[in-house]
Amino acid sequence: MTHVERLAQKLLKGDSSCAALVFSERNRRYLSGFPATDGALLVTTEGSYLLMDFRYAEAASYAVKDCQVVEFANLYQKLEELLKKHGVCRVYLETQMLSVAQAQLFGEKFRAFGVEIDLSPALDDALMALRIIKTPEEIQKIKDAQAITEAAFDHILPFIKEGVTEKELSLEIEFFMRSHGAENVAFDLIVVTGKNGSLCHGVPGDTRVQKGDFITMDTGALLDGYHSDMTRTVALGQVSAEQKKVYDTVLQAQLAAIDAVRAGVPCWTIDKVARDIIEKDYPGRFGHSLGHGVGVEIHEWPRFAKGSETITEPGMVVTVEPGIYLAGQFGVRIEDMVVVTENGCENLTSCKKDLIIL
Ligand code: ZN
Ligand code: ZN
Repeated sequence: MTHVERLAQKLLKGDSSCAALVFSERNRRYLSGFPATDGALLVTTEGSYLLMDFRYAEAASYAVKDCQVVEFANLYQKLEELLKKHGVCRVYLETQMLSVAQAQLFGEKFRAFGVEIDLSPALDDALMALRIIKTPEEIQKIKDAQAITEAAFDHILPFIKEGVTEKELSLEIEFFMRSHGAENVAFDLIVVTGKNGSLCHGVPGDTRVQKGDFITMDTGALLDGYHSDMTRTVALGQVSAEQKKVYDTVLQAQLAAIDAVRAGVPCWTIDKVARDIIEKDYPGRFGHSLGHGVGVEIHEWPRFAKGSETITEPGMVVTVEPGIYLAGQFGVRIEDMVVVTENGCENLTSCKKDLIIL
């Protein structure tokens, strides 16, 4: 069953008087497979339509298989025509994605042709329920994106030398990924060295790598609409006993958490496994959540986080990324992506994790 069919089944439950209008770029792409910055996707019980303007209609007509591509000059006219054709009188909207102005505009336009809009979270909930469980095809796409990420990691190691800047390393990784098939980088890559390592989401700058630094690289590729996400921390020259201890603690926490992943447990319990190990010696130094879902967005559901009651299910793809950040000194983070299975998980990351000292 296609993503569009699954959404129709889950949300509309055979009620032909209802339809869903998917407006956001990410969900349109999730459902149709087609990237376009503009347009809409109308899902009815009798069929689905990807509405595209002149700029995208031809390309979409070649690429899209799961719904009918319809070119429009005036979106609202075309929507009215289709809604009337299918006898729809109520349309679900993605309330999480709409601006207040858009919601008002849709309300006015739809009311004018006798259709009510539904601003309950029903469509958002249905999309989340679908997207949170990856199909084998989606998992393969994430693996393909991860293969580029790992090749980029191997590629960058010889570049890590005294005097090279964070920005130079980051650009080299990006150039490698994009010239080896990535559609884009999955997010603004993070390369931080030395003291900057305690900035979990630091921006690569002009700081130069020095002997004795930890260099943390949080990188990922975007391929065919799916993201990958991996962090490795490596050292240059030598490491102090304290650096070694921090690295070993993060690694131990990460391995223990991965070992704890399986279907049927609340997400917060996985976070706790890693957190408990780190808190013993480094209280308060692991200030973010353990992990996040990865798919058509780099950060999606579920979350391995304190308070997350979501129960793990087979097919969820989640990162496991504990870290220790010592302000003004250094930081270490190690991140893999895993897919939850019935009795454990499959690690989608094969890059080694023993401390690399270059
Ligand atoms: Zn990451
Ligand atoms: Zn991540």
